[in-house]
Amino acid sequence: MAKKIVNVLEGAAMTNDGLSFKGTIITPVAEKCDGCDRQAPFEDKFYCSSYSSPENKWASGICNFATHVRVVVDKTGQVSVNPLKASKRAAKGR
Ligand code: SF4
Repeated sequence: MAKKIVNVLEGAAMTNDGLSFKGTIITPVAEKCDGCDRQAPFEDKFYCSSYSSPENKWASGICNFATHVRVVVDKTGQVSVNPLKASKRAAKGR
């Protein structure tokens, strides 16, 4: 079955400041975005359908909307806890 192609950047227009989409100037995807399904093409470049500035998103850590990477617990014990699960455990008295 053929995959339906949706143009998520419909209505975007190139301006002197960059690509304008829904009143915001958006910048092309970062190198770390390679492989993410949220990329959308416009003319000769790819842009993110979720963030206006992918480079800034990656500057503060792993992009939480990335479809091609996930957070991993390392051997030093760095673990992130889902706040919803923690609150359910507390409610059960564990
Ligand atoms: S969701 Fe994140 S990783 Fe994916 S294209 Fe956008 S900024 Fe890049």
